[in-house]
Amino acid sequence: MTGQERSEEKSECVSLSPMMEAVPAPPESERVCVFGTGDLGRSLGLRLLQAGYGVVFGSRRPHSRSSLLPHGAQVLGHAAAAQSAHLIFIAVQREHYDFLVPLANQLKGKVLVDLSNNLRKNQYPEANAEYLQSLVPGAEVVKGFNTLSAWSLQNGPSDANRQVYICGESVEAKQAVIAVATKLGFSALDQGFLSVARELEDFPLQLFPQWRLPLRISIGLSAAFFFYLLIRYVIYAYVTQGEDISFRIMVSLANQVCPIVSLIMLSLCYLPGVLASFLQLYRGTKYRRFPNWLDRWMLCRKQLGLLSLGFAFLHVLYTLIIPIRYSVMFWVTEHTVSVIRENRTTMFDTTTAWHDDSYLSLGILGFGLYVLLGITSLPSVINALSWREFSFVQSKLGHLTLLLCTAHTYLYGWNRFLSSSTYKWYTPPGYMLCLVLPSVVLLLKLLLITPCVDRTITRIRQGWERGADQRNPKDSQPLIP
Ligand code: NAP
Repeated sequence: MTGQERSEEKSECVSLSPMMEAVPAPPESERVCVFGTGDLGRSLGLRLLQAGYGVVFGSRRPHSRSSLLPHGAQVLGHAAAAQSAHLIFIAVQREHYDFLVPLANQLKGKVLVDLSNNLRKNQYPEANAEYLQSLVPGAEVVKGFNTLSAWSLQNGPSDANRQVYICGESVEAKQAVIAVATKLGFSALDQGFLSVARELEDFPLQLFPQWRLPLRISIGLSAAFFFYLLIRYVIYAYVTQGEDISFRIMVSLANQVCPIVSLIMLSLCYLPGVLASFLQLYRGTKYRRFPNWLDRWMLCRKQLGLLSLGFAFLHVLYTLIIPIRYSVMFWVTEHTVSVIRENRTTMFDTTTAWHDDSYLSLGILGFGLYVLLGITSLPSVINALSWREFSFVQSKLGHLTLLLCTAHTYLYGWNRFLSSSTYKWYTPPGYMLCLVLPSVVLLLKLLLITPCVDRTITRIRQGWERGADQRNPKDSQPLIP
């Protein structure tokens, strides 16, 4: 360090701790530097201080920033701050990175952690971290921490987001960053070389990538069934009887669309697994890739399931408010009054009572299991389950849920399946249409669990290949005795 730089450091140095003079400065390995005193810089600095690091901020205006920074940190000019630590976090927007060029000498051999993100994908020809490396070739650039937000850093170690992704060319530099991340309470995942930086920079810009297809399916199904039921229900009543029941759109129609979409989406959640099993049976091996569409479908099963749970939940809510609806209360009162006025006697019908109770009970049990499936898809719950427990809940109980909800819908239809008045304008009601897919899935699943098919599929999943016995006599031992 030249004498001029030393005097610059002395004049620029702003200690934020009244005890700073008395407390000896931590060694360089325990000191980290943060360039930039903005939102992320300040939050990161605070977290570093809490973890026991000495923090030196590098700022364009160290004097005016001192009051904003966490208690115990130092703030210096960039050049002086760079010399005080081996590891420097760059919490500055990429557009301003050229301020680092004149600091090339001070940054030689230092580890620069690029925290930057962009406003949109492919905003620049190269990744920000690669750009930083090209500006300061003598430093070791590591991309990392950019998937955290200033807010989550401030929340402290209790925040749920505990993973940070890093990449870079130098193993030592990455180890230094991993050590800091670990001390801050994060688990750092090394993603490889700096060429991966663009991917890491795209992470925060993702907009529900795995939810897109399930969301489109649910919106498409809801819209299609809404219009279908509107025609069969409201428009049909108006055209054939001149009756205006448009008020039923808000609750009755919605309460028909929700269970229909829910049941179809639940079937769509289990259909790809069944199709994959049949494909493996047909091919006689598990060592061939599934077609891309099936792969994509399988990857969004969790989202399909959660959306279907959402629709089921709405169905439950709509059903619970039925007794307090004005139209329902009106008709119940009307009916009671007319029975009294006409002195009519109505008989209790045990068959109807059995039907009603069974229908409701299957719905309640199905919904209970639905909720269980939803809970066991939460990452924290998945981590607490063994693979066998998880597959028991998601596969066995999942198919049971589908069975219960399908049976609930069949019971809802009950004797209306055979009544010609059900088929208004020769069209089947929505609940009949929605039974097609779950019935197919359940039938296919039933085929798969028959002992002879199940034995073959289990062997295939354990590595057995049809035809391999002829190809290699050593493989002739069955995998399952
Ligand atoms: P910010 O609040 O705008 O702060 C940026 C800091 O950069 C300023 O406080 C300033 O510090 C410094 N700076 C501004 N212009 C400069 C220039 N021309 N030359 C040198 N330094 C300059 O931004 P931020 O939200 O902290 O974000 C910083 C970086 O982290 C960005 O690249 C962002 O994409 C990334 N990031 C932010 C978050 C977040 O939650 N905020 C999360 C992940 C990643 P001085 O005035 O002290 O020099």
